[in-house]
Amino acid sequence: RFADVAQAPPDPILGVSEAFRASTNPNKLNLGVGAYRDEDLKPVVLNVVKKAEGNIFSRNENKEYLSIEGLEGFRRATVDLLLGQGHPAIQEGRVAAIQSLSGTGSLRVGAAFIARFLKGATVYISNPTWGNHRNIFGDEGVEWKHYRYFDAATVGLDFKGLTEDLTAAPPGSVVLLHGCAHNPTGVDPTPEQWAAIADLCKERNLLPFFDVAYQGFATGDLDKDAFAPRLFVERGLEILVSQSYSKNLGLYGERVGALVMVVQDKESATRCLSQLKRLARALYSNPPTHGAKIAAEVVNNKELFDEWKVEMRGMAGRIERVRGELQAALEAKCPQKDWSFITRQIGMFSFTGLSPAQVDNMTNKHAVYMTRDGRISLAGLNSAKVEYLADAIVDSVRN
Ligand code: PMP
Repeated sequence: RFADVAQAPPDPILGVSEAFRASTNPNKLNLGVGAYRDEDLKPVVLNVVKKAEGNIFSRNENKEYLSIEGLEGFRRATVDLLLGQGHPAIQEGRVAAIQSLSGTGSLRVGAAFIARFLKGATVYISNPTWGNHRNIFGDEGVEWKHYRYFDAATVGLDFKGLTEDLTAAPPGSVVLLHGCAHNPTGVDPTPEQWAAIADLCKERNLLPFFDVAYQGFATGDLDKDAFAPRLFVERGLEILVSQSYSKNLGLYGERVGALVMVVQDKESATRCLSQLKRLARALYSNPPTHGAKIAAEVVNNKELFDEWKVEMRGMAGRIERVRGELQAALEAKCPQKDWSFITRQIGMFSFTGLSPAQVDNMTNKHAVYMTRDGRISLAGLNSAKVEYLADAIVDSVRN
């Protein structure tokens, strides 16, 4: 019965961590998965998370099921983070939010909603994008196509290509946009370009679906990093948003996130939420409690919220510092090449432009583990390893 089941290929991102763990090279460096590490390259539990957990434990709460749509305080906090407290759309009751299984699960619920209620719609995803986007929509039976995004020549945004591709998309299509800190390129549209994309979505009747996985990681400021979805709502667009607390609160394994829909009126929001609940009921029934309680405790408690912002700036700042150090080391070792893109890119990653063969050299010869698209996670780099990494990159570029 199962003898004919073929072996699935390893995941292009999580497979890198598996290969890293298997390596016995003492110099090995894992720059694959986007998970924050401290200066000793150890995983971090934020202080505010520890404090929130202390508060939660002291209340001695039960382990009953949450409702299908999730924890009320969490849902409110999450929508506030996205739109800003007291936003008119919230007051008008035209926001539907369902707590789901972090960013991935929220995207999947969104994909299921598209499959059921926007039948035949194609989802346009950036080229390149986070590898799992293709799986999430593809497995749900939603057709997806690429729109141009990255210009290798300028190591910047291919705004002309993006505009052409979205202009050619059939009305009613969905456009997946990275809210901030585009993964893997670290290249975001400027505010003017975001405005033009919003206008284009409006003119062409395209539905924007924001993937917000790095709020707070682009600039270190939660509000600034929500600029794009807020702008789209301000311009009168209906939007879908998936939100994740994996990175900004370091809750990776707790699976904390939400799918949010900002729609035209309260009645539509009520109906959409009822359908999101219907979809979630069959997928996983109800979301997990612990992580949602942590996030709600942090966002809804002024003292913890302020402390979180300091810790978040600390994480974003450490990444920015190693970015600068890596660029300086590469400029010193290989001055004939322009390395300035490293500090122009934002977020957790640098898109190095290394080819798959050069990535193989990085891994096989230097034990630097990274995805084959040439992306490195700077969250996994420290000052002590900058020289080693720069030598490996220069050796690989010359090969
Ligand atoms: N979207 C993007 C662009 C991501 O980079 C990630 C995490 N790597 C996610 C969504 C989802 O992560 P999670 O499911 O842990 O929230």
